[in-house]
Amino acid sequence: MSTPTRADWEQRARSLAVEGRAFIDGKYWAAVSGATFDCLSPIDGRLLGKVASCDAADADLAVAVARQTFESGVWSRLAPVKRKAVLIRFAELLEAHREELALLETLDMGKPISDALRIDIPAAARAIRWNGEAIDKIYDEVAATAHDELGLVTREPVGVVAAIVPWNFPLLMACWKLGPALASGNSVILKPSEKSPLTAIRVAALALEAGVPAGVLNVLPGYGHTVGKALALHMDVDCLVFTGSTRTAKQLMVYAGESNMKRVWLEAGGKSPNIVFADAPDLAAAAEAAAGAIAFNQGEVCTAGSRLLVERSIKDEFLPLVLEALKRWKPGHPLDPETNVGALVDSQQLNTVLGYIEAGRAEGARLLTGGKRILEETGGTYVEPTLFDGVGNAMKIAREEIFGPVLSVIAFDTVEEAIRIANDTTYGLAAALWTRDLSKAHRTARALRAGSVWVNQYDGGDMTAPFGGFKQSGNGRDKSLHAFDKYTELKATWIKL
Ligand code: NAD
Repeated sequence: MSTPTRADWEQRARSLAVEGRAFIDGKYWAAVSGATFDCLSPIDGRLLGKVASCDAADADLAVAVARQTFESGVWSRLAPVKRKAVLIRFAELLEAHREELALLETLDMGKPISDALRIDIPAAARAIRWNGEAIDKIYDEVAATAHDELGLVTREPVGVVAAIVPWNFPLLMACWKLGPALASGNSVILKPSEKSPLTAIRVAALALEAGVPAGVLNVLPGYGHTVGKALALHMDVDCLVFTGSTRTAKQLMVYAGESNMKRVWLEAGGKSPNIVFADAPDLAAAAEAAAGAIAFNQGEVCTAGSRLLVERSIKDEFLPLVLEALKRWKPGHPLDPETNVGALVDSQQLNTVLGYIEAGRAEGARLLTGGKRILEETGGTYVEPTLFDGVGNAMKIAREEIFGPVLSVIAFDTVEEAIRIANDTTYGLAAALWTRDLSKAHRTARALRAGSVWVNQYDGGDMTAPFGGFKQSGNGRDKSLHAFDKYTELKATWIKL
């Protein structure tokens, strides 16, 4: 089978059926209010479809359905081996529909089709399959009791889970939640971002086709914070899992406190340091990785390596390599299979990123490349990969998450100084370091306050490794068996024999 060309993708885009309704109890429904919002493509501003603008009434309906389904036991009490089989079928359906899903993702949020096809959709399917495969291999515990007692420590599904997800990896972030939530028997209400609702809406039907019973997975799109807030304040949602900005994450903790003290698990923002020591084993490889760490997915990555800390003695040698590597990251039409940098998600994000570039200039950082909006004639929202040298860690571009392809270079002289600068942030999602000295690598990795640390690479990991943040990057972890902690309650049953 030949790989689709840009013309093929454009042809398919023209005939693509876009479903924009909410999915509740196994069926697509308009919002109770009948309201919709326009779903626009950042590629060229075209209208992709009208999407249901759900609000508190839809949240009430979906929560009631999810509760009733949970209590019925149709999924929550199904044998793990049977839930496993259904989730594996669900993963297979995601794979079978990968071209359709990749196209929806690209049209909706502007990422390159090659990334959607090779990274997002396969990784989403893997998240579902991995958790499905895990669920019949997790055992409960028997406590160390006196001879005449039996202490059982068991895990139970937490109940009704609301999952609020962002727009940068729409389906993948959803599946990091759906995998363990569904595998452990919960009923779920998924709330996709208003900027990228389409794949979440589509896969609800695939889950049903795979055998996830009606009412177990519900999807509520909505405009702005309305429906997300309604779910977060709902008295009958047991658990709220979230990926998105730190600002929203903090608000969700407030909502939980104001309502039923639902469990709140947060994956939030980052401002990750990428430290290149003078004894890095391969400066060319470090430069390639530094460029990819800021340009991949247009820099709209929570773990973007947005602060490049470079040991001063190699800076003059290293920066030209980074600039050279950045030239290979070129914004282009997202449906062109050769494109590796797409459009920013919308004009609001475009203005945010351009505003930060302006702030960098105003604070005296030296712009070495990029800095401009390009391809404006297409109607799309494209920004050149941008590199600032001479950045101080107190500057706005070094402190705040930009969520665009803007890299700040900060020089340092000693290991201690590098660690101090790296940790001088409110975030703690990820960090990387490059050195050939094994002890320095371990010592530095231990000192870095981040949920993921990469050595001599950027962005390593797999479903087998927990992912999440220290400090204001969040709490709890996605991926790995640790993720099940979020979706289960522990019960101690104590029996007198
Ligand atoms: P956002 O916080 O604006 O929105 C995230 C989701 O929350 C969306 O679905 C949105 O509609 C909803 N929302 C917004 N306000 C709400 C409110 N008051 N109540 C309830 N729901 C509300 O974030 P975003 O712009 O969609 O995503 C980008 C952010 O996500 C970045 O900060 C990025 O670092 C973060 N992110 C983190 C991870 C991670 O795993 N740590 C992964 C990807 C993205």
